[in-house]
Amino acid sequence: MAQVAIVWLRRNLRLQDNKPFAAALRHFDKVLPIFIFDTTILKQFPNPYDRRLSFLAHTLCLLHDTLKMLQGALSVFHGTPLEIIPKLVNHLKVEAIYADEDYEPANIERDRAIQKVLAPHCKLHLYCDHLLIKPGIILTQSNQPYKVYTPYMKAFRAYVVHQGVLAQNRLLIEYKYALEGRLFTSSLPDGNSIDLNLGVEAVLKQIGYIYKKDGLWDPKNACNRLDGFLINQIDHYKANRDLLDLNGTSRCGPYLRFGLISIRSCYRKAFALASNVGVTTWINELIWREFYANILYHFPNIIYEAFQEKYRNTIPWNSKQEDYDRFVCGQTGYPIVDAAIQQLLCEGWMHNRARMIVASFFSKNLLLDWSKGESFFAQHLMDYELASNVGGWQWSSACGVDAPPYFRVFNPYLQGKKFDPDGQYVKKYLPSLQKVPGHIIHTVDFHTLHIDYPKPMVDYRLSRIRAIETLKKIGP
Ligand SMILES: Cc1cc2nc3c(=O)[nH]c(=O)nc-3n(C[C@H](O)[C@H](O)[C@H](O)COP(=O)(O)OP(=O)(O)OC[C@H]3O[C@@H](n4cnc5c(N)ncnc54)[C@H](O)[C@@H]3O)c2cc1C
Repeated sequence: MAQVAIVWLRRNLRLQDNKPFAAALRHFDKVLPIFIFDTTILKQFPNPYDRRLSFLAHTLCLLHDTLKMLQGALSVFHGTPLEIIPKLVNHLKVEAIYADEDYEPANIERDRAIQKVLAPHCKLHLYCDHLLIKPGIILTQSNQPYKVYTPYMKAFRAYVVHQGVLAQNRLLIEYKYALEGRLFTSSLPDGNSIDLNLGVEAVLKQIGYIYKKDGLWDPKNACNRLDGFLINQIDHYKANRDLLDLNGTSRCGPYLRFGLISIRSCYRKAFALASNVGVTTWINELIWREFYANILYHFPNIIYEAFQEKYRNTIPWNSKQEDYDRFVCGQTGYPIVDAAIQQLLCEGWMHNRARMIVASFFSKNLLLDWSKGESFFAQHLMDYELASNVGGWQWSSACGVDAPPYFRVFNPYLQGKKFDPDGQYVKKYLPSLQKVPGHIIHTVDFHTLHIDYPKPMVDYRLSRIRAIETLKKIGP
């Protein structure tokens, strides 16, 4: 039998510019691409209509179709990797599995357990493929993780240049390969396999979910989305990125999350553009993603507690269930917050400025525990990333890494006036306010003039004072 390796696709659902594929093909004649619907992870997705599962299944079917054209296939399984991988390795007698390295604590543990079970006959080779630079590489001069973004960003940029991370010859050698004639197909152990030939609806049904066609997030659009943004929008990114009613950001998040777009191609294409403030700002946002991934890697405890020690178990959070319920239904009485929640519920996505406004409102004005807000976002965001979501929520609630001072509380009226001046964003997601004059929506007068709309659940001014006083008592 030709020498075969398994390529286990996880967060890098693409066939080109894929490090594990490239590495496997350097060492083996043939590769068998697989994907596992991990039942441990699926437990975190209780909604049978979860659009992320539809997106995922659709993506897998598309990959399978492409592989079939190359005389191969994508083999998909349903179960735990710990049960499936050893069976597969035994059946095929393979010595190597290639996959993208995952840096979330639970997934690090999973991979360690698999390595252990496979040793010594088979090895799991892991490659950093959904971040540009592996966490833990960029450290301060005293070999400590950076805890402030700006020096990290500078060190990151310097590393990219000095190490030639994006140099063309390196990319060509390391990530260019042809799959034609290199794909392995064989009968696989039955039991847990999922037949992609049956189509996306049947695939989802086999794992207990229901397919929902998504007009907004289409796996086929991944590359166009990135290229369209880089051609038409990036130059104006700095000016437009905060305007809520404009489509001023890339909306690449979900495609990056599942790896349909390679993070290397984002950096490579952006760095290749003429440098201007839009390009620089966008690259810096990509670096925020790496920064938060590093923070989670070095400080995995931030999943369940504040990064800043003084805020651990010291904030007397508001435990009123009604307050949480009103927030997650978008009934806070603040149109900008309610519109943002509607955007999340309808689109599975929320504008970054809106994320900051609602997270500040949740954790400061309502004094609700940031971790509950984090979980709420986790249920709905198409681009949900543990590291960035925890990072964003802790930043907004003042208890995170490199967070603004505790007394900075976003004012929903001023934020609305500045970033949604005509009320277009609010009207789009709250059509009942269509007729309200734009200049009224983000004012205190709105509440008296529009009596049909829910009254504000807290007074902005008083709740701001309550938040500041509460946090001040904990320490400067
Ligand atoms: C409370 C809160 C929660 C958040 N949760 C997530 C999350 O679960 N997943 C997530 O990817 N981002 C999260 N962010 C960051 C940011 O809001 C989104 O990345 C951004 O809105 C995605 O839109 P875009 O793809 O158009 O991004 P663009 O503005 O086009 O940026 C390009 C890419 O850079 C990365 N990026 C941009 N801003 C940030 C940032 N502040 N932190 C980390 N990465 C960034 C993303 O991968 C993004 O797709 C959160 C921010 C806040 C304040």
